[in-house]
Amino acid sequence: MSAPSPEARPPAIRFDDQCCGVCARQASGFGYAPKQRYGQPAPPIMWVCESDDCIRIARDSYSMTEPVFNRIEALAVAEGLDRGRDFAISISTADLAEMTDAQRLDFARAIVAGYRDALKVKLREEAPF
Ligand SMILES: [Zn+2]
Repeated sequence: MSAPSPEARPPAIRFDDQCCGVCARQASGFGYAPKQRYGQPAPPIMWVCESDDCIRIARDSYSMTEPVFNRIEALAVAEGLDRGRDFAISISTADLAEMTDAQRLDFARAIVAGYRDALKVKLREEAPF
């Protein structure tokens, strides 16, 4: 039996034991893997954070292929940037040198939170099962 093509494989980044495979938050020690088939190697565990949604989304999107995940992740990055832009507009500057330390942290949090939220929502919406 030959290895599946790269297009047919789930993206390896989703199986990092330190990072939720759904929303990219810190993994909590919970995870999902489909049943091992007789005579086959154990499928890798998709580790998740403490969110109840993430374990369900991990199960439903486990077999999502790398090109589909990459497309979804690119959309999530764009939504993170939108959140950062909205924050910058709310404080009337996008210049990091003009922001206070607290504003720079809130700006970064807005981008990261926007990315994480969008990744989770889009994985839920486009899960193959
Ligand atoms: Zn998560």
